Amino acid sequence: MWAAVLATVRASRRILLPLHVRPDGDSVGSSLAVARGLRALGKTASVVSADPLPSNLRFLDPGSECLQPAAIAGDGWDLALLLDCADEGRLGAAAPLLQGVPRTVNIDHHASNSRYAGLNVVDERCAACAELALRLLDDLGCALDPGMATALFAALATDTGSFRYAATSPATLAAAARLRAAGADLDRIQSEIWEHRSLPSLRVLAIALQSLTVDAGGELAWVAVSDADLAAAGADAEATEGLVDYPRTLHGVEVAALFVHEGSGGTRISLRSRTRVDVSVLAARFGGGGHPRAAGCTVTGPPAEARDRVLAAAREALARPGGAGGQAAGDGRP
Ligand code: 5GP
Ligand code: MN
Repeated sequence: MWAAVLATVRASRRILLPLHVRPDGDSVGSSLAVARGLRALGKTASVVSADPLPSNLRFLDPGSECLQPAAIAGDGWDLALLLDCADEGRLGAAAPLLQGVPRTVNIDHHASNSRYAGLNVVDERCAACAELALRLLDDLGCALDPGMATALFAALATDTGSFRYAATSPATLAAAARLRAAGADLDRIQSEIWEHRSLPSLRVLAIALQSLTVDAGGELAWVAVSDADLAAAGADAEATEGLVDYPRTLHGVEVAALFVHEGSGGTRISLRSRTRVDVSVLAARFGGGGHPRAAGCTVTGPPAEARDRVLAAAREALARPGGAGGQAAGDGRP
């Protein structure tokens, strides 16, 4: 399959790289780095995103080469190359662009990947899709420049919680070492990604912590914010990024949840677990997906009802020996 992917990429001249909705560091970093490598091989490569890049990742795209779907012509593409995109629903407004593209390649690390493309390479042993993106660049014969190395390192660092999560393997760390040697700018990653909070987003954190609730004998903890909270803090949805990590830090918590009540859009839910509950199975019960330790979904209907349904399912999963999927262990990868 990998050989077929390489042959397809080599044979394609005009390549479109769509990001997933609410793009994260892995999606942005992997796609920008690969696009750059493809251009170095003389190809036309465009990165397209339904949603704007989060402000803390914009430094990875200094030339503003990531485009909105409306700015992209729908025809004339030989290949759509999807990195870190678990299913077609994750493409959002970029999905219609794929309709006229004759070939699609899906390279991902989500176990829940629906294999929606013509060629699918899903390796859930990778902590980040960036590990596969690096392998792709290597096998295509692309030399890494410092910009590509920084983008890929940022992807690894964000998906692994700065190399702390259990999904971080020897291969992940070897990839990080190579990227560092190729000029990955860790100062820039530190200041742009991890020390780039806005005042409104810290205010949203304060609001979220006010809502902190602990349940299930201390094994379940959640926070919630609403559209109105965001408006009151002068923040947008980006300010909710990372909030779910706070309830997870509580000693004894196995499942942490964040509820973002989006008014007409329903409730967006982020789920995290520590060692036992497979939250991707939990999210899948509500039409979402993800990884064993990090997953998400959106539930329509009144906010309190949506929240209570997910909390009930989480309590049920906690009560079950082995966790939601009956899976004893796993390692989480956003
Ligand atoms: P987050 O909680 O950071 O939004 O998402 C955590 C992980 O869950 C993401 O990396 C992604 O893999 C997955 N995820 C979040 N929301 C959804 C969703 O609605 N559908 C699917 N399939 N996966 C999701
Ligand atoms: Mn990822």
